[in-house]
Amino acid sequence: MKAKSASALNDFRKKYDRYYSIGDLTPTLCELFGIPEPAACGAVAVAPIVDQAARTMGEGKMEKVVLFCCDAMGEHQREHFPEVFERIEKVAPFRIPSVAVMPSVTPVCYGTIFSGAAPCVHGIQKYEKPVLEVETLFDVLAASGKNVAIVSVNTCSIDMIFRKRNIDYYSFRTDEQSFDCTLELIQKNSYDLIVSYMTEYDSLQHKTGCFSPECTRQAYLAADRFEILAEKMDEYYKAYNRALVFVPDHGGHLIRENKGTHGFDIPEDMLVSHYYRLEEKVER
Ligand SMILES: [Zn+2]
Repeated sequence: MKAKSASALNDFRKKYDRYYSIGDLTPTLCELFGIPEPAACGAVAVAPIVDQAARTMGEGKMEKVVLFCCDAMGEHQREHFPEVFERIEKVAPFRIPSVAVMPSVTPVCYGTIFSGAAPCVHGIQKYEKPVLEVETLFDVLAASGKNVAIVSVNTCSIDMIFRKRNIDYYSFRTDEQSFDCTLELIQKNSYDLIVSYMTEYDSLQHKTGCFSPECTRQAYLAADRFEILAEKMDEYYKAYNRALVFVPDHGGHLIRENKGTHGFDIPEDMLVSHYYRLEEKVER
């Protein structure tokens, strides 16, 4: 399974001439936490991130991670909203230019991001939301005694496909509620890893076009929220080695002036960057 995943993920790397895959997030975090990778993981830990963490924190010494999963904020969006992504990169300066998987839709891509497995191995190969059967980052974290929370809008892909794990699920009607919940969970310090999902940019790009005033507002809101997450983590997690990562799944493109989409095997949909902020704890 690992070899099959590796080979399929490598095909996307080659086609788009990208060294990194979106699936590399999972083995990278496993290295940082010092835990085994999921069984079907064929992705590869991102060496500059692992090296930096080993230099500053020591190997396997990660303690607190928040993943800001901002749906559909890919490289095509970066080209149109450079000032938004400059702010994201200022918070999280390790930018990892990556390639998504096909079809470039949410459950397929987050399935790969959180298992390190290719779609032909994790099993979600079209827009559908079954509970993922392969081992994920969340399973290996739970098996190592870590506490995981997924915070999202209800019935979205992230809310549905990672169910039946030994983790906690918080689901709401709006992004605003799930973001507020994320801040509360950071403040309460009850989790080792929190997935905080933001759906509204993607849902609006389908309805209004990728660069509409409504989408522009969401893109800026994503940067605002990412900055707030960094501040809150520095405040409440300062005694812990920590990472904040900006984790989009795919991009999106215009099909006409007021309608956007994604799911295609084209750079506008397939190219994304993940951004890592690594902070070492302040010893007391
Ligand atoms: Zn998506």
